[in-house]
Amino acid sequence: ATPISVIVGVGKAAEAGVLIRNGEALQTASKISAMILDKTGTITLGTPKVTDVIVANGSDELEVMQLAATVESGSEHPLAMAIVESALERGIKPGKVEVFNAVAGQGVEAKVKGQALLFGNEKLMSLHNVDVEEYVEQAQSLAADAKTPMYFAVDGSLVAIIAVADPIKEDSVKAIERMQQSGIRVVMLTGDNRDTARAVAGKVGITEYFSEVLPDDKAKKVQELQSAGEVVGMVGDGINDAPALALANVGFAIGTGTDVAIESADVTLMRGSLHGLADAIAVSRATLQNIK
Ligand code: ADP
Ligand code: MG
Repeated sequence: ATPISVIVGVGKAAEAGVLIRNGEALQTASKISAMILDKTGTITLGTPKVTDVIVANGSDELEVMQLAATVESGSEHPLAMAIVESALERGIKPGKVEVFNAVAGQGVEAKVKGQALLFGNEKLMSLHNVDVEEYVEQAQSLAADAKTPMYFAVDGSLVAIIAVADPIKEDSVKAIERMQQSGIRVVMLTGDNRDTARAVAGKVGITEYFSEVLPDDKAKKVQELQSAGEVVGMVGDGINDAPALALANVGFAIGTGTDVAIESADVTLMRGSLHGLADAIAVSRATLQNIK
């Protein structure tokens, strides 16, 4: 039978906007020793905005944005939405994409008006032998500013770097500090590049982070920490977080995140704030105290 104090604990957490699926999750939460946080949409708001458009010599900014928005109109990625929105704000309408192919963790390959377009990170460019050397320094300095720079190439030549910034949620810093103070090892995972990851981690006081993590590798990180003896909590919002959420000892989904993430998780943070994590752990520890 479920001890009455567990039922009380689940109710208390619910009052704080933390929906715990079952008593077992509440009890396991007290034992969490490591908490893995996804970056985009978990630590940050997940609504990136275009901040910089740097065009290569001879390229026209409006034309570049038109093509970029055309490519991204086929994608549901938050980065893509930022590009399309920025184009629309400039009065530019996306055109028609002939071929569209999303490359997980790298970006997009597309064909528009017979031109081969590539939009994504450095890895995507290097796989297609696009020379970005002249622009790497600018991209790095954008990333050091916690922005995500994306390379845009047309027919094998770089035409622009477009950067977006995704604001950090107001209370992420405090909530992360609360977890660290209660003795939890806090780790950040992201598909974003190393420099951006380092900058965001630094802003929120996280010293342990893994960048350029491919969607399929998020669950592997959970497993690695478990093999190292940690009881792992995982927090995420995206479709690609779902396997990691399911595998973690306790999976936490952001309430505004995707349905797949919520269904894979044991706990849903209705308010989106990471304080829900520290609250869940506090309630869990108090509950277990009452059982003993
Ligand atoms: P995350 O959502 O954790 O930031 P992803 O695995 O979705 O990571 O993406 C990793 C990287 O791949 C992004 O930082 C970006 O550089 C590139 N990328 C992914 N999707 C797109 C896209 N639609 N347009 C441009 N770049 C993209
Ligand atoms: Mg993602």
